[in-house]
Amino acid sequence: MKTLHHKARRTALRSAAVVVFACALPLTARAQSISYFYVAPVSAIQAAFGSVSAADTGVMDVGYAHKEVTAANEAKFKAAAPANLVKTYDDYKAGTPLRKRLNEILSISGGKCDITVALVDDRTGVSANSRFADMPRGDGARYVWPAASVTGKLANGRYRGFIGLGTCAADSITNTEAGGWKSWEGTICHETMHTQFVGEKTKWGSVAITYGGDGSHWYSELLGEQQLPFEEGLGTLFGAVDNPEWNSKALVPFFRRSDERYHLESWSVLAGSPELNKAPRKEEDADPPDNSKPGRYAIYSYKWKDVPGFYILFNENTSTGFHYFFWKYTAANSDSALAMIRKSAGAMFTDLHKRDLAYDVNRLALQMEDYASTPAGRTAKTAGTLTSSMFPYALLDLITHFGLTEAQYKRELLVNYPDRVPKAEADYFTRRDAVKQLVQGDLNGSPIEIEHAVQAVRDYFRTPDTILATGN
Ligand SMILES: [Zn+2]
Repeated sequence: MKTLHHKARRTALRSAAVVVFACALPLTARAQSISYFYVAPVSAIQAAFGSVSAADTGVMDVGYAHKEVTAANEAKFKAAAPANLVKTYDDYKAGTPLRKRLNEILSISGGKCDITVALVDDRTGVSANSRFADMPRGDGARYVWPAASVTGKLANGRYRGFIGLGTCAADSITNTEAGGWKSWEGTICHETMHTQFVGEKTKWGSVAITYGGDGSHWYSELLGEQQLPFEEGLGTLFGAVDNPEWNSKALVPFFRRSDERYHLESWSVLAGSPELNKAPRKEEDADPPDNSKPGRYAIYSYKWKDVPGFYILFNENTSTGFHYFFWKYTAANSDSALAMIRKSAGAMFTDLHKRDLAYDVNRLALQMEDYASTPAGRTAKTAGTLTSSMFPYALLDLITHFGLTEAQYKRELLVNYPDRVPKAEADYFTRRDAVKQLVQGDLNGSPIEIEHAVQAVRDYFRTPDTILATGN
């Protein structure tokens, strides 16, 4: 994969249900309970806990056993497990900053999803047939790739998410990614988010088809639809809000790049798009992800402005960036902006058709209009700190370089039949040209002055004549 090293590979989403523990877990409904299993080679589990039942052996992988970790045997787990698995377990405990974030994420499904976390000592490698997503290491052994899955609705009306976390990934992400441990916590947030969107994850019926030929997704990749990248990027946001180092070293620099920052596999859904085929791009042969398949495999690379605006919606960083800028710049208190994002996501949790940025814009604008008509909103308006409900429309426009035609943008906004249409939806289009002119200098720069542009647009939408309210 010599040509792919510069594209940070992100976590995998396991489409096949791997909730093998469900039968061993209590079926009574508990509000968003989280259970933990230590998974390690059989001899390690025996040494740690004194015994291991045959029923708990070989289920997760050949040669591996598992044991539920509870307050009663926690000390034994901690004495045996690798340091970063112990630290991960402690990080999940009630009252930690991470757990506070996780509880917020778990509210997206209304607390209807219980979680099983597998903490895996995968230092000696797992098999290709394990119950986990896996990746090859430098030494050829396979290790557990952080991944999540979620069941359909269970008999008790709840859902169960499964998250696989291995110590090899914890070590490597902590040692190599900006923010260190914060980045590992961000991975946990990302995977937890995957447990909140239930039902179909992709219109293609297969995550692998959406991801393309390599079966994996990259921050920079144009994927096979909007909905899964929306979910991927939103998941990443929940870690980003607590990882300023990652934002300043990875996320924002991506949006400042004026060179070829988007990638498309020649073996992928969008490789058949006429608009992307005729757009300026670089082309580079790469090692095929599957040598058993014939044919050439290439990676196409595009500059931001050369990707037709509509197709920027197929990239997960678009979702992360949109939500990051919304979180950071909309409200005087970023927690309240994050709460709006969560509430918007809650409207999508059972319905794939709503998981896109245009629908999100609709849900965010409605909340902003409702807020503007409250006493607190009117006070903020007087103080000049209230942001117009047109801002999310402008932010999506900005991040897609105003590249959608008005007809395309309106189609995106209406396609999933929102039950309410914000006042901002019509008003924004009377101001679109003015907003575009406001930021042309920033967007034409190299580097692209994206944060300056976002702030300029936000400031424009804090002038009192732009504020819209429902009048409720
Ligand atoms: Zn993911």
